[in-house]
Amino acid sequence: MAMKITEECINCGACLPECPTTSITEGPSIYLIDAATCVECVGHFDAPQCLAVCPIGDTCIVKA
Ligand code: SF4
Ligand code: SF4
Repeated sequence: MAMKITEECINCGACLPECPTTSITEGPSIYLIDAATCVECVGHFDAPQCLAVCPIGDTCIVKA
């Protein structure tokens, strides 16, 4: 279970500091989520925090 950032990402950086498992990094072209450590915020928040703050929304951060 993990979320994934799509090509819609505009590299705003808003998601990075919100991740409770520090799974988000600034990749070479768009931001990236480490599928090995992303837990979709289960056990931390009621909903994925990266998606909650993303200005693009659910076309930018999707279920992997
Ligand atoms: S869903 Fe939660 S754990 Fe996964 S990358 Fe987004 S903020 Fe981090
Ligand atoms: S909040 Fe959305 S647009 Fe901004 S860096 Fe993260 S995934 Fe990309």
